[in-house]
Amino acid sequence: MKSDLLKFNRGNAKLGRDIWTFSLPAGFSCPGALECLSKANRETGKITDGADTKFRCFAASDEAQYKNTRLQRWHNFELLKGKSTAEMSELIQASLPRQAGIIRVHVSGDFFNQFYFDAWMHVAKCQPLRTFYAYTKSLPFWLRRIGDIPKNFALNASRGGAHDELIAKHDLKYAEVVFSTKEAEDKKLEIDHDDSHAYKSGKPFALLIHGTQPAGSAASKALSALRKTGWTGYSRKAVAA
Ligand code: SF4
Repeated sequence: MKSDLLKFNRGNAKLGRDIWTFSLPAGFSCPGALECLSKANRETGKITDGADTKFRCFAASDEAQYKNTRLQRWHNFELLKGKSTAEMSELIQASLPRQAGIIRVHVSGDFFNQFYFDAWMHVAKCQPLRTFYAYTKSLPFWLRRIGDIPKNFALNASRGGAHDELIAKHDLKYAEVVFSTKEAEDKKLEIDHDDSHAYKSGKPFALLIHGTQPAGSAASKALSALRKTGWTGYSRKAVAA
C-alpha cells in the first residue's frame, strides 16, 4: 500500500454502518494478550497460538484467511511504529474518515505502547464530537492515565489478558468471552450483540465465544454446542476482544 495515511474500515452487519474501525496486526501489537494470543505470519498467514491460548483470536484467523486484511493491518502498524505521541496523533487525525462519528479503535490489535495509547487519548480530546471506544488488555497504559481519559473515549478491559488482576483492583469496566448463555447468566453479565455495551453502557458485559477455535479445545466444543442452538457467531471483522 502506497498511502502515507492510516486505513480505516466501515462497520459491518454486526457493528452497523455508522461505526468505523481501525486495526493493527493481531498478537504482534498486543502486549497484554494471554489466553487469546494468536498470530498470523505476516508473509504466509500461518497461525501460531501462544502457550496459554484458551480461545483463538478471531482477528488472527481473519488475517490467516485474507491477505488484504493482513496487509492493511501491517500497513497501519508500520506507519505508527517508532513515532512520538504527537506524531501519531497528527497521523491518526489526518487519516480519520470525515464521516466517522463512532470509531472502534482496534477490531484487531491493541495499544502497543504508552505513546500510542496517549496518542489516541489526545485524538479524542481534539475531536470532542466523535465517539471512540476500545477493548483492551493493555491495562497498565490505561491505569497510568486513569484520571485523564476523555469522556468521549469508552475503554473496556478485555478479560483473559496478562493483567486481569488489575480489573477488580481498579474496578474497571470489562468484557468477558463466555462459552454459553448460562455462563453469562451465572456471572450476571448481559451478552452484547452489536457493541452497544462497549461504547454506551457503563456496565461489564459478555461476548459469546466466536471465531475459529483450535480443534478439540474447550472453546471449540463450546462453540459447537452454541451452534446447535442456532448461534451463528459475530460477523467477520467484528470482534477480537
Ligand atoms: S484477541 Fe485482541 S488482544 Fe488478543 S491477540 Fe487478538 S487482537 Fe490481540
